[in-house]
Amino acid sequence: MAEILLENTLSGRKEPFVPLHDKEVRMYTCGPTVYDSAHIGNFRTFVFQDVLRRFLLLRGYKMLHVMNLTDVDDRIIQNAAAAGINIADYTATHIKTFLEDMDALNIERPEHLIRATEHIEDMVALIERLAAKTITYTSEGSIYYRIAKFPGYGKLSKIDLAGIQPGARVELDRYEKNDARDFALWKAPKPGEHFWQTRIGPGRPGWHIECSAMAMKYLGETIDIHTGGVDLAFPHHENEIAQSEAATGKPFARFWLHAEHLIVEGEKMSKSLGNFFTLRDLFAKGYKPSTIRFLLASVPYRRQFNFTFDSLQQAASSVERLRNFVYRLQNEKFPEGNTPAMAARIQQAEDDFHHGLEDDLNTAQALAAVFDLVRDINTAIDLKNFRAGDAPRALIAMTIFDAIFAVLLDDDAEKLRALGLAAPEAAQIADAEIESLVAERQAARKRRNFKAADGIRAQLDERGIILEDTKDGGVRWKRK
Ligand code: AMP
Ligand code: ZN
Repeated sequence: MAEILLENTLSGRKEPFVPLHDKEVRMYTCGPTVYDSAHIGNFRTFVFQDVLRRFLLLRGYKMLHVMNLTDVDDRIIQNAAAAGINIADYTATHIKTFLEDMDALNIERPEHLIRATEHIEDMVALIERLAAKTITYTSEGSIYYRIAKFPGYGKLSKIDLAGIQPGARVELDRYEKNDARDFALWKAPKPGEHFWQTRIGPGRPGWHIECSAMAMKYLGETIDIHTGGVDLAFPHHENEIAQSEAATGKPFARFWLHAEHLIVEGEKMSKSLGNFFTLRDLFAKGYKPSTIRFLLASVPYRRQFNFTFDSLQQAASSVERLRNFVYRLQNEKFPEGNTPAMAARIQQAEDDFHHGLEDDLNTAQALAAVFDLVRDINTAIDLKNFRAGDAPRALIAMTIFDAIFAVLLDDDAEKLRALGLAAPEAAQIADAEIESLVAERQAARKRRNFKAADGIRAQLDERGIILEDTKDGGVRWKRK
């Protein structure tokens, strides 16, 4: 097998990946800010991280993987105050939902899934370490990081520092502005806000310090891989580098991997546009967890992800195709013996699969290898060129593919039931499937094949959909 190449945001190049500690990969993932339910964009990034993790495991590495849960930040404090509850109660609901969603998508749990609020002492210690190096200053009870004192600032995001005003501070954890400013490591408490009483004074941590402190606590001062969505490169990851490297004098993360964003039908996802979806929104529309996982994993992470309902529909058929294929291998009676050419064909597919993933996790290429194999074996079976002795080898290949894509087990109904949702068979048929059946029926009517058209109407009726033909020859549908 060839070496694994990963594109490193820091160098802007694909580099061969080898971990620092023998066969153990130490990886840090910025987890969700638990102020709301995670959306499908967030899960694009979390699924990418899971694919990376699973691929490294498949290649024989051991994982030491940390993901944080940001359970204190500006938005959490505001929302909890608005709801009149404390931040722990407020975040508990969102943490529960997040973990259930991870399980629904077969995202493996990292070795350490840890909360910011349980690591305040580690953050205080790191801020003290930075203060000892005179890289911090205090203003009205808050402690800031003086970025002018860190010469490497900007090296990850390549942000232009020409416009930086020394001493200009930013108060918010998150900001869109394209300029670098001194950021808060520790924030003085505002009246009525939750705060911690610590050696560096009362207050709460800024957002960036948690990731530096938690990553280094569990993974050491230099970690192998740091991941996140592309929006985190600046300022969050830039600030993590500034904090960690100024404290230790060592490189913080060797590889930085950033997933491009998911957009919906060509537009940025936003609640106001009505194109904002959580996983549960999609489950309620009748889409299965495996379909969503497959779709999210299918686009290589460095490419922008254009989510469409058509592609979701295609993903559903792709998963069906794979499951039917495995069913066929397990249940059909093949002629005795084996075909040497078939063993070579399967090996070729496995090699192509690995080549795809070795190339900066090109999941599209890896999947093409799987579907080419499925097509070739299906043809061979139909031509009686596939024998009983070939089946176990083909099943092993499918198991290897599924170690990454994790969609073969038909447990969607069970998963949805565990979430208190109806099983997909009983649940609504997906909008896209209705649309495509309606279009098929329209085409049949055009051909004056009324028998076929009536058949589709009856089929939809059975699945709870009523069709109404409109005067202009069109058709409207509604759920019963
Ligand atoms: P947050 O909870 O906002 O910190 O986001 C959790 C993760 O989701 C981070 O890695 C973000 O970079 C990532 N993320 C946020 N929005 C999107 C999106 N539209 N597409 C892909 N990833 C996203
Ligand atoms: Zn982070």
